[in-house]
Amino acid sequence: MENSANVLVSGAGIGGPALAYWLRRAGFSVTVIERAPGLRPGGQAVDLRGAGRDVITRMGLMDRARAVSLDQRGLAFVNASGRITARMPADSFGGEGIVSEIEILRGDLAQLLHDATLPDVEYLFDDTITGLDQDADGVDVTFEKAAPRRFDLVVGADGSHSVVRALAFGPEQQHVRPLDLYTAWFTVTEPVQLDGWFQLHNTPGGLVASARPGRIPGEIKAGLSFRSKPISYDRGDTTAQQDLIERRFAGAGWEVPRLVRAMRDADDFFFDSMSQVRLDRWSRGRVVLLGDAGYCPSPLTGLGTSLALVGAYVLAGELAEARGDHRTALGNYDRVMRPYVEQAQELPPGGAGGYAPSSALAIRLRDLSMRAMNHWPMHNIMAAQFAKAGNVTLPDYPRLSPAARSGSVH
Ligand SMILES: Cc1cc2nc3c(=O)[nH]c(=O)nc-3n(C[C@H](O)[C@H](O)[C@H](O)COP(=O)(O)OP(=O)(O)OC[C@H]3O[C@@H](n4cnc5c(N)ncnc54)[C@H](O)[C@@H]3O)c2cc1C
Repeated sequence: MENSANVLVSGAGIGGPALAYWLRRAGFSVTVIERAPGLRPGGQAVDLRGAGRDVITRMGLMDRARAVSLDQRGLAFVNASGRITARMPADSFGGEGIVSEIEILRGDLAQLLHDATLPDVEYLFDDTITGLDQDADGVDVTFEKAAPRRFDLVVGADGSHSVVRALAFGPEQQHVRPLDLYTAWFTVTEPVQLDGWFQLHNTPGGLVASARPGRIPGEIKAGLSFRSKPISYDRGDTTAQQDLIERRFAGAGWEVPRLVRAMRDADDFFFDSMSQVRLDRWSRGRVVLLGDAGYCPSPLTGLGTSLALVGAYVLAGELAEARGDHRTALGNYDRVMRPYVEQAQELPPGGAGGYAPSSALAIRLRDLSMRAMNHWPMHNIMAAQFAKAGNVTLPDYPRLSPAARSGSVH
């Protein structure tokens, strides 16, 4: 595989465009295929932490990221009447606490990364891979709409329900571990009094409602989560998903009735189970996984975006440095990323129960521990936890420097 090789990337979320950017810099030709008809604007804020933030800096995008980052005071838990019961300011833990100092709307980050790849990367929207057939020299790919094509390498950056993973590594249930938590995210324009805080309200039974100010004045980014053993639902039927949420949240306090009402009008409604993705290896021959497709840590960790950004940089760097020897490159990618992924997949204290406590007593205890986190010795214990999860030293890859363009895979 020469550094002029053709790489197909499935998924134009965060990891896909970031990888396309770095591969182009090393001289590869890149095509990105995305199932949605355009970039998906949805999602709440994602954190730019530790090494993920370094990748954005190395891409020269930090000023643009800061320009669209959210102005926020931090995280506050509120009771049914809206009174704050515990909070963590955004600058706690040196800006690396539960809410990180630089938070950016997921849609804004996806747009920024996509724009950085233009005009050098080919995008095919509104299509999906339907078949992969690899031999020693390449991969024959079939698509739902486009004509079949042959590539040197195929990357699955298509999220936790990855089609590339299903085709090359086997069915989803072998690799996806549900956390027994379901979440809907959507944007509302109804007035909710937040005073600059990302507010969360827990209801016994494992319900969590959240609202945070968006970037545009008057826009609120809302979330409704509930704990449940795996349920079967139609992933294409938004109305049925909203009915399910409405039933679960019946009788909940705070701003929940308003959020549930507004959810029906949201044009970016997104509902999914929270889960982790775990595989022993992320490549099979000339097919490799990146980001949530290979190692989703779940939104509970706040590290999914950083992992995808770091994974994109390392995968591109290893491919460029191996001068196209894909076996060496993909082995190195696994070796460099594995420890970081394993750390990032450690759930924060309490796991799903910490985020969505099931009883009134557990909610009070969580508030107490949140208040204690701001003080010694809990503060020091938590600081160590956040620092460990967010950090990896990025390797230097000379062939990713702007001057070096070679690009091959063999
Ligand atoms: C709409 C949306 C909203 C999100 N909101 C949040 C949030 O609020 N908080 C949070 O922590 N995380 C959120 N996430 C997940 C978060 O973006 C990822 O955890 C993280 O950024 C890693 O990015 P990724 O590129 O691996 O995956 P993703 O950002 O999920 O991107 C995957 C991309 O692949 C595309 N895709 C899926 N199937 C196919 C297919 N068959 N063919 C081609 N393309 C396909 C998807 O449309 C998507 O654009 C959201 C993801 C999406 C898609």
